[in-house]
Amino acid sequence: MTAGRFAPSPSGDLHVGNLRTALLAWLFARSTGRRFLVRMEDLDRVRPGAADRQLADLAALGLDWDGPVVHQSDRTDRYDAAIATLVGRDLAYECFCTRREIREAASAPHPDPSFPQRIGADGAYPGTCRSLTAEQVRHRRATGRPSALRLRAAVDRWTADDMLTGPFTGAVDDLVLRRNDGVAAYNLAVVVDDAAQGVDQVVRGDDLLTSAPRQAYLAGLLDLPPVRYAHVPLALNRQRQRLAKRDGAVTLADLAAAGRSAVDVLALLARSAGLAGPDEHPTPADLLPRFDPSALPRDPWIVDPAALVTT
Ligand code: GLU
Repeated sequence: MTAGRFAPSPSGDLHVGNLRTALLAWLFARSTGRRFLVRMEDLDRVRPGAADRQLADLAALGLDWDGPVVHQSDRTDRYDAAIATLVGRDLAYECFCTRREIREAASAPHPDPSFPQRIGADGAYPGTCRSLTAEQVRHRRATGRPSALRLRAAVDRWTADDMLTGPFTGAVDDLVLRRNDGVAAYNLAVVVDDAAQGVDQVVRGDDLLTSAPRQAYLAGLLDLPPVRYAHVPLALNRQRQRLAKRDGAVTLADLAAAGRSAVDVLALLARSAGLAGPDEHPTPADLLPRFDPSALPRDPWIVDPAALVTT
C-alpha cells in the first residue's frame, strides 16, 4: 500500500509552520487512502528529547501515523547498499573540497568547459574533484583530509512532478552521497527511505522544492519509483522571514503556556489553510471531506505570534 509521510529533523521543537505542514501531509495521505508514516531524519543535529516531543505534539493535534516511527540513524545499511550500487556503476567520486573551496571555485571560471552551466548555478557544486586522476586522489588522501562521496551526475537539470506547482525543473549537480564524516547525505537517505517505505507522495515545505529535481534524478538512477511531490508554502514571520522559535510563542508548548490548547492550535492551522471557519474547533478527521489540494492557499502563511495567543 502506498504512503505519504512527515519527516522532521529532531533538532528542536516543531513550530506552528512545521505543524501545519504535518497536518497538510496527513490530509494529503489520509484523503487519498494512503498510509501516513513518520520518519525521524536524525542524521544531522539532534537535540536530546526533541524527537519524543515532536511525536507528542503530532499526537496532541490528533494526527495519527501507521507503524513504527523510522529513524534514519538505524538505516545505515540501506544507505551503504545504495551508495555501493552507484559506486559499482562508476557514478560516484571522492571529493576533498571544503565548503570554502567550493564557494571560491563556484565563482571562478571552470577549467572543464563541458560543465559551463554548473558553475555556481543554484549553489551547484562546480565539479572541482570530478576528474581527479588516481594519483591526485592518492595525494589528497595522504594529506589526511577526509573525503565526501559525490554523484557523477549526467545531467544538470531535471524535472520533478509537483501537485501544487506543476512540473518543476531545477538544477542537478554532483550532489553529496556520503558526507566527509562518513554519514549518508540527506538527499541519498530521503530517496532510499521513501522508496523502501512505499512512499509515493511527499508533502513538505517549499524550501525543499529546489531539492526535488536532485532527488527525483537520484531515484531514477537507483531504479526507484518516482514520487509525486506537494511543496506547501512555508510559515513566515511579519518580516517575511522563515518563522523561527525566536519569533515568540510558536511551539505547542509555548502556546499551551499562553493558554492555547492543542485543539485551539489545530483550529488555527485549519483556518490558515482555508479549511475551517473562525469559531470552529474541528478534528483532523473533520477536515478530510473538506480537503481540496487545488484550493490550498499558495502564498506563505504570515504568522504574527502575538495574534496566535489572542485570536
Ligand atoms: N527532514 C527535513 C526537514 O525537516 C524534511 C525532509 C523531507 O521532507 O524530505 O526539513
